[in-house]
Amino acid sequence: MIFVGAGPGAAEYITVRGARCLAQANVVLHDALTDPALRQWAPGAQWIHVGKRGYRDSTVQTEINALMVRHALAGARVVRLKGGDPSVFGRLEEELQALHAHGITTEVVPGITAALAAAAASQRPLTRRGGGRSVSFATAVTQSGDVAAGRRADTEVFYMAGARLAELSRRLQAAGWPPHAPVHVVSRALWPDQIASDHVLGELATAAVLHTGRPTVVTVGVGATPVALNSLLAERHQPPVPSPEP
Ligand code: SAH
Repeated sequence: MIFVGAGPGAAEYITVRGARCLAQANVVLHDALTDPALRQWAPGAQWIHVGKRGYRDSTVQTEINALMVRHALAGARVVRLKGGDPSVFGRLEEELQALHAHGITTEVVPGITAALAAAAASQRPLTRRGGGRSVSFATAVTQSGDVAAGRRADTEVFYMAGARLAELSRRLQAAGWPPHAPVHVVSRALWPDQIASDHVLGELATAAVLHTGRPTVVTVGVGATPVALNSLLAERHQPPVPSPEP
């Protein structure tokens, strides 16, 4: 039984290994966020949609677990296809537990997680020489539905925050981020209709107009800033080092 990360966007962002696993599958259990064009890799397989979005589960987790176990025990080559990377906010723990409880062996094929997709789409490196030494991937929404946020890294990327921007802004300021901290918001990163916008933390709520209802990541701190030309130009215009006198 193989977990495959589909990546965040168009079908071509899946890994070569992920596509090979799909090509050998008889049954594919897939999320809502994965691109329908991925079916080209496994046209003969039975594709079963077990999608969830946010906390509005359309198929309860226990049903997904039961489906995976049933197909795997029946001898099918099963791929569990997940949006982004299976190890990041993907309920992988519960699904591995369910399979291991039945003695089913598993493999996990990584995918491009949304934070990395947004960084690539906007060409904003998450780490920077100098001030950007740490990155955190966090979800803004706790299990009880509250918004929680702190200040733990030079760059912080929040998942599942699109509908809670005003609250996230307040929580981050309460945790010590200044109101003028740079925030970069990207929805549907690496899809043809992706949207990216820049804000300061104090005015993050205004981003809702652009991103509501779309899968969105919010990047705060050093990694949210555009790559500056200044340092490069400064380097280029440095006077040439004089060659030593003969
Ligand atoms: N396992 C996934 C995350 C699943 S949680 C991964 O590794 O990316 C779902 C959240 O992921 C969404 O609420 C959103 O915050 C984020 N997300 C998924 N796809 C995205 C995309 N293309 N652009 C921006 N955010 C995305």
